[in-house]
Amino acid sequence: MEDRNPTVYFPDTLSELLQLYRRTPSALLYAGGTYILSHRPGRFLELPSTVLSIQDVQDLRRVSRSERTIELGAGMTIARTLQLGEQNIPRALYVALSSIGPPAVRGIATIGGNLAIPARLMTAVPVLILLEARIELRRQGGVRWLPVSRFHLSDGRLDLKPGEVITRVRVPLQPWSGQMFRRFGTELSPESEPLTVCGLVRVSNGIVEEIRLNGTASGRTLLRSRTMEAELVGRRIPLSRKEVESAEEAFGELPAQLTDIQRDRFRRLLTWFLLNIQQLTTRSA
Ligand SMILES: Cc1cc2nc3c(=O)[nH]c(=O)nc-3n(C[C@H](O)[C@H](O)[C@H](O)COP(=O)(O)OP(=O)(O)OC[C@H]3O[C@@H](n4cnc5c(N)ncnc54)[C@H](O)[C@@H]3O)c2cc1C
Repeated sequence: MEDRNPTVYFPDTLSELLQLYRRTPSALLYAGGTYILSHRPGRFLELPSTVLSIQDVQDLRRVSRSERTIELGAGMTIARTLQLGEQNIPRALYVALSSIGPPAVRGIATIGGNLAIPARLMTAVPVLILLEARIELRRQGGVRWLPVSRFHLSDGRLDLKPGEVITRVRVPLQPWSGQMFRRFGTELSPESEPLTVCGLVRVSNGIVEEIRLNGTASGRTLLRSRTMEAELVGRRIPLSRKEVESAEEAFGELPAQLTDIQRDRFRRLLTWFLLNIQQLTTRSA
């Protein structure tokens, strides 16, 4: 962050963007800029000597749908994604994206930008992890796919190689019988004690076929227990109080860094989700 007069490029095509990024891997990728502009260290925005705006790259705004997946261009705004409608994207993702606000921000903030904030699991991230979404990462001469769950490394960095750009997010469209997304506070202000909780469940003939539940605390800590999820598969709904208590026990201790409020809210929502699977499967929340 050294130059007061950066050169800003506005490539029109993906190949032009990747070429420019290969030449200057220290450049800043600028999508909607909502995070970059609001999280400057001081009064002035200090940019590196090269900035690559992705706003004119149409290839990054495409959407395609098949029977099993929907692919969202990483440059799609949150608002444009929501315009696809609840019938085209999983409901939990729809609710999560709707909670990113205010509307003026949703109109310019992108999906790729939401995923690519280092050391922060922003609002869409836990839901995309739970849905087992994958991202396409491209650089000049290379392409790879990565589960969203592996993109944020434990040291806060992102699994991005020099010159690499998120180009698409592939979201599986599995038939969930019930979906839930709840959110408190905002990931960018720790004093709001941010917490998200997301649950997905598939029930067939009154039996839990698959169940997934995760959450984030303070945009940093991912909460999930596969042991609990495995324990619930094959159970008949509604679950009894005893089964719910045993599932909560299987979830295990919550990490020490959670505040009392986060801890309490997470536990309550976990209990609520497990006790209400039957209702959720008739009206997805
Ligand atoms: C008032 C306000 C409210 C907000 N509320 C929320 C909220 O409720 N929930 C929430 O999650 N966020 C919120 N945000 C933060 C931010 O707006 C969003 O996270 C947004 O999705 C970021 O997208 P962007 O396109 O603006 O990213 P940018 O600011 O352009 O970029 C963010 C980071 O991602 C990198 N990047 C962008 N695109 C790519 C790509 N395709 N490949 C690789 N790297 C990339 C950039 O280099 C940068 O490091 C809020 C911001 C503001 C200002």
